[in-house]
Amino acid sequence: MADTTPEQQKKSPPACSFCGAEKTAETPLIAGNDGMICESCVQLAHQVVSNWSVKKQCTSMINSLRTPKEIMEHLDGYVIGQQEAKETLSVAVYNHYLRLLNQGDIEEVMQPGGTTELEKSNVLMAGPSGTGKTLLVKSLAHVIGVPIVIADATTLTQAGYVGDDVDSVLQRLFEVADGDVQRAQWGIVYIDEIDKLARAGAGSAAVRDVSGEGVQQALLKMVEGSQVKLTKGDKRRGGGEDVMIDTTNILFIVGGAFPGLDKIISERLQPSNRGIGFHTADVQGAVKKHVNEILPALQPEDFQQFGIIPEFIGRFPIITFLEELDIEALLRILQEPRNALVRQYKQLFQYQGVSLEFSEAALNNIAQKAMDRGTGARGLRGIMESVLRKTMFELPSKEGIGTCIVDEQTVNDAAEIIVSEILGVGMDEADLPYCEGVSRAVNE
Ligand code: ADP
Repeated sequence: MADTTPEQQKKSPPACSFCGAEKTAETPLIAGNDGMICESCVQLAHQVVSNWSVKKQCTSMINSLRTPKEIMEHLDGYVIGQQEAKETLSVAVYNHYLRLLNQGDIEEVMQPGGTTELEKSNVLMAGPSGTGKTLLVKSLAHVIGVPIVIADATTLTQAGYVGDDVDSVLQRLFEVADGDVQRAQWGIVYIDEIDKLARAGAGSAAVRDVSGEGVQQALLKMVEGSQVKLTKGDKRRGGGEDVMIDTTNILFIVGGAFPGLDKIISERLQPSNRGIGFHTADVQGAVKKHVNEILPALQPEDFQQFGIIPEFIGRFPIITFLEELDIEALLRILQEPRNALVRQYKQLFQYQGVSLEFSEAALNNIAQKAMDRGTGARGLRGIMESVLRKTMFELPSKEGIGTCIVDEQTVNDAAEIIVSEILGVGMDEADLPYCEGVSRAVNE
């Protein structure tokens, strides 16, 4: 505070006790018991105090921010395979929050030659459907402890058209953060099916592309960092209040299947001979590579062929891919993750006092069926359901069953999955008038 003696105060006109600005018609002062304060000092004080609260939150997060290796270990518990994507995301997320935790010092940033401002690194994930993109993001948000919202790009439209505009995603994030602006501003937004936002073909240039390129354009600003007005509470009931949310620190992750991406990459790596003439190209020698061998060569420009505009791709400096799942991966997914399907069904049967066992052949059969469906690991649950449906229907009305065994048997030259029920210790089939002993599960 500026030093003023009582005599001086009497003589000189009243002034701000912080900056010394004199009271005028343009600079009114708020008077306290021992001093006064002007409007700009109030604003500065507000900024400093808000910064304290950010720092307080940072400190509590610093204690829990894990290293990329620890984040990866956590992801390993839920996501099978996808090493490249797990590693990339662990580093991206760690750096993102490290940057946030260290940006609290306004004074330092404002000093000439002070801390270098780090730009945020949004992530683009490409990979077939059902390979774990959403699962990865959910598991990440879980380990970091920040709010997360998962949106589907296909439901978004440009503002003013039927459908959700891009701000609705932030409104949801704000709600997930329990109406806490600061928490929402540090959240993660995952937008799936981004490949469906492809720009409409040149032929339809006269038509306004409100759900494709229009949404990409609308997302640009949000991803880069903008102030978006949201509503807190229910406006219709008269209780709503407007709040501003800054998207600068929100981590955006987008994902999509980008079907045919491998072909685009291999075409770039090994352009096919398009020469005109009678001498046909020597393509016989070229060995067709598996998609998982091609994906590591992914480059940002490959996405342009999907109608993703360059400005959009440019805002996602980190690009990673998820591999197609093979049968070994599907077998592991069935059994290994913390919430693996086999564990879930075992638990469900355990609640009824029944132990559920799977033979290796049965698990192979289930994994193979999921491979045939071509929907990645997503198909596994549906297959499990249909294998166990009949048993799950009958079991609660039966008593005395101790174990159910899911096994593969050859029926009419075809491998079928059979669920056998075995009586518990000391039980006799005569005690169970409606027990059929063996029930056959529906085979796909
Ligand atoms: P998408 O890549 O289409 O976003 P999801 O992450 O939604 O796929 O996967 C669907 C389901 O399949 C998940 O809930 C999970 O049970 C299972 N799954 C898919 N990939 C994996 C994986 N790599 N490891 C473990 N489970 C997986």
